[in-house]
Amino acid sequence: MVQKPIAIIGGGIIGLFSAYYLLESGEKVVVIDKSSGNEGCSFGNAGMVVPSHFIPLASPGMIEKGLKWMLDSESPFYVKPRISLELLKWGLQFYKNSNQKHVDSSVPLLRDLGLISKLLYHDLAHKLKYSYEEKGLIMYCKKQNTLDEEAHVAELANKIGIVAKVLDKKSIHKLEPEIRPEVAGAVYFPGDAHLNPTELIESLKKYLVDKGVVIKHNSELINIQTVGDEITTLEILNDEQKEMLEVGNVVLAAGSWSGILGKMLRLNLPMQAGKGYSVSKSQVPNKEIFIPNILVEARVAITPMSGRFVRFGGTMEIGGLDSTINMNRVRGVIKSVPEFFPDYALDVPKKEEVWYGFRPCSPDGLPYIGHSGAYKNLFINTGHAMMGISLAPASGKLIAQQILGKKTEMDLNGFSAQRFGN
Ligand SMILES: Cc1cc2nc3c(=O)[nH]c(=O)nc-3n(C[C@H](O)[C@H](O)[C@H](O)COP(=O)(O)OP(=O)(O)OC[C@H]3O[C@@H](n4cnc5c(N)ncnc54)[C@H](O)[C@@H]3O)c2cc1C
Repeated sequence: MVQKPIAIIGGGIIGLFSAYYLLESGEKVVVIDKSSGNEGCSFGNAGMVVPSHFIPLASPGMIEKGLKWMLDSESPFYVKPRISLELLKWGLQFYKNSNQKHVDSSVPLLRDLGLISKLLYHDLAHKLKYSYEEKGLIMYCKKQNTLDEEAHVAELANKIGIVAKVLDKKSIHKLEPEIRPEVAGAVYFPGDAHLNPTELIESLKKYLVDKGVVIKHNSELINIQTVGDEITTLEILNDEQKEMLEVGNVVLAAGSWSGILGKMLRLNLPMQAGKGYSVSKSQVPNKEIFIPNILVEARVAITPMSGRFVRFGGTMEIGGLDSTINMNRVRGVIKSVPEFFPDYALDVPKKEEVWYGFRPCSPDGLPYIGHSGAYKNLFINTGHAMMGISLAPASGKLIAQQILGKKTEMDLNGFSAQRFGN
């Protein structure tokens, strides 16, 4: 009998790492993706691999900060007011989860997922041939009260085994001798890392295809056939041709589209797309940025990549899957840079130079990783929001372990795909 493939819906970083670990266990895998191959959130992001980000987005104070930011058209956060039951339900869940109890239970989960991933990135860099650097991450704070807040996070980090150092200006200048930031201070996480996401995806895809994984681009899942509690066939639209793909197990890893696709099977996976932008520019000669960093008040991520350019990324617009580029927000990102690094007065880019991606955001800031509950051969791996690159290898490994009935490297209960009910 011909073995039916494990089908992965979504060829972003989460789908590809799910494919990788299934392949490594000898499974037959097919990845389907509706895009032409270089779209989706996994390409133009900031490429940070950050176990230091162990606090979920849904946390005390976020709602107040968000409301304040919404009044400023160049601010880093925006919820587009619209009549949507989905948005309302998501907002209520976000509100319910923005408390200390939720943070306390999420911190060890995000820490462990982040640390496992980082180790995997370290070990795979040679095999998959992507440039990967472990230079850490600096959180720059313009104001003393922000530095105090970040110092509090640093204290917590050290308590849970993530090394963090509070830096004064002198120590910052030792780490970054050329850019001389105008800040009150910073927190340095020496254990963080970074990579070039486009390079990572290209090399991962090449490895998968060379080893026999079928990756189908321009292939949109349009319907799912089931018999009882089992998915039997995926209906795919491939360049206007309909294809019926008979499947064994299925992994839903369709990023911001996962909530909509889940509805085909009456799954409740609350999800909002958090649009963000990035712009890549040359390094300023003799003022090179060496260490990836975040301008904390501006919520801008800055990553030197592949020794060639610097990527500036930011903003979080909860506004549906709307691909319009809001140049006010892009301007907000660009204008904030010289406030921290006076030598980086950058030109506002043309619209064509701006990349955007939809971060798949669950309302409690935790990904969905695990069995769907509803169909015996359906598994979920999505909702990684601002940390999909960071958390992808561990998430892929864990979902593969679960599908294959192995003991998972960490407990998956906290990431249950059924936690908002079905
Ligand atoms: C500005 C910015 C900076 C960021 N920086 C970082 C960072 O430094 N570190 C970090 O860890 N994360 C970062 N992120 C977040 C990270 O990019 C995302 O979490 C991650 O890319 C999500 O990956 P994914 O595979 O879940 O989704 P995607 O990459 O969006 O992939 C989902 C795929 O599903 C496909 N799909 C959808 N519907 C269908 C369908 N019906 N049929 C077939 N295919 C379908 C889509 O075409 C898409 O390719 C950043 C994001 C942004 C926007």
